Amino acid sequence: ATANIGVVGLAVMGSNLARNLASREGNTVAVFNRHYDKTETLIGEHPEAGFVPASDYEAFAASLSKPRTAIIMVKAGAGTDAVITSLTEVFEPGDIIVDGGNALFTDTIRREKAVRETGINFVGAGISGGEEGALNGPSIMPGGSDESWVTLGPILRSIAAIAEGEPCVTHVGHDGAGHFVKMVHNGIEYADMQLIGEAYDLIRRGTDKSPAEIADVFADWNTGELESYLIEITAEVLRQVDADTRKPLVDVILDQAGAKGTGAWTVQTALDLGIPVSGIAEAVFARSLSSKPAQRAAASDLPGPSEAWTVDDPDAFISDVRDALYASKIIAYSQGFDEIVAGAAQYGWDIKKGDIAAIWRGGCIIRARFLNRITEAYADDADLTLLAAAPYFAEALGRTQEAWRRVVATAAQAGIPSPAFSSSLAYYDGLRADRLPAALIQAQRDFFGAHTYKRVDKEGTFHTLWSGDRSEIESVDTH
Ligand code: NDP
Repeated sequence: ATANIGVVGLAVMGSNLARNLASREGNTVAVFNRHYDKTETLIGEHPEAGFVPASDYEAFAASLSKPRTAIIMVKAGAGTDAVITSLTEVFEPGDIIVDGGNALFTDTIRREKAVRETGINFVGAGISGGEEGALNGPSIMPGGSDESWVTLGPILRSIAAIAEGEPCVTHVGHDGAGHFVKMVHNGIEYADMQLIGEAYDLIRRGTDKSPAEIADVFADWNTGELESYLIEITAEVLRQVDADTRKPLVDVILDQAGAKGTGAWTVQTALDLGIPVSGIAEAVFARSLSSKPAQRAAASDLPGPSEAWTVDDPDAFISDVRDALYASKIIAYSQGFDEIVAGAAQYGWDIKKGDIAAIWRGGCIIRARFLNRITEAYADDADLTLLAAAPYFAEALGRTQEAWRRVVATAAQAGIPSPAFSSSLAYYDGLRADRLPAALIQAQRDFFGAHTYKRVDKEGTFHTLWSGDRSEIESVDTH
């Protein structure tokens, strides 16, 4: 046994993670892949890594010192289950199996329970940052037991991204907590990308700026409070020129956005938890809408605004769009953290919200300056009821909300879709409202289904005899 850590699954993510591990002082890395050719390629291309290759699970287990620790990076789903089964056959109690793939957190809860029965530790770890992150330092969101964290913590700290001197990894909580938080991270990423897309679209259609000129706008935004990886790469993408046509690359890419499902999981889970994550949901739906060419063609002749849209003051408009983007982004994160809080309560995880924002500052796709403000908000009040209402964000929303309204109103009048901007604003105004039409909905529910209602002026549950004399009775029945 010569290796202190192993990697199973040597496609792009696993290979890069294995190289990252091997590059850190003190690590010797065992590597295994179902088809041995990938293993051979990796060890052939990277002799400097000193990998210990194994061609079967027995040899892989024998090459690892105890407690054996292996990170699985295979295709999520059936592939992960197959590898876990094989590893539990050759591992012993006290050993640690880490699933670094994008597993659904409920699968992780199930797997953790099953593997625990064998005495082996199972850790579901969300790993963000794509292939570049895996190689140079990802943001890592591990769940699992406290016992496994003792061994795993130092290893993961050694390979994680560093943000302001701190490794971007923390023990998120037990069993599926890590994959849950990674899922919400991806949901927020969907929202962030959609918001940037809407900002770009409004500027493109409202001004005469070319993509390259809009790149300058994003590069400028990236020097302020919007500073983030996604804003930075947006500027680079918008500057890119297609080699064949000499057109901006963004103009020759088919406008149908794909998705691998983690955004949909975030929304499905939020629906189950009863948490409104409207910004994330609109982002997921916007990708779905974009990928319906037949419906888009069928709608293409439907009427739009009768008057042409012109922007009188492009600089002022761009400034408004920037504010709308920032305000909507605050709402997306506030909604995402609501989902984390609700998930933690539902599944019994002690998740430190401030630590989550801190480990998202490096390595991952949503890394941003703004995350420091979230960490600070939770440092001031660990049980914050609403992130968007924390002092820093309340000030930012107060400063940007007029511009946000102008942008949403303008977009509606101009016939430019801004689902994430506008749904975030509706959510903000919904939360702010003194009274909501929910009172009317309760009355409707009582009318057709005798679902009862509560009153603002006295305790109890009430029902109006709608089909009788319409007098009110106090009800003990709560449907
Ligand atoms: P893929 O998701 O493309 O999976 C390919 C790997 O899975 C290969 O090593 C393959 O082995 C192995 N595999 C598939 N089925 C089985 C099976 N039944 N038994 C054993 N091994 C199997 O690889 P990626 O590197 O792209 O991603 C790995 C994981 O990381 C995934 O869960 C992904 O969701 C996650 N992830 C990916 C990111 C990315 O940017 N790509 C970012 C963050 C997470 P073989 O070569 O033998 O076919």
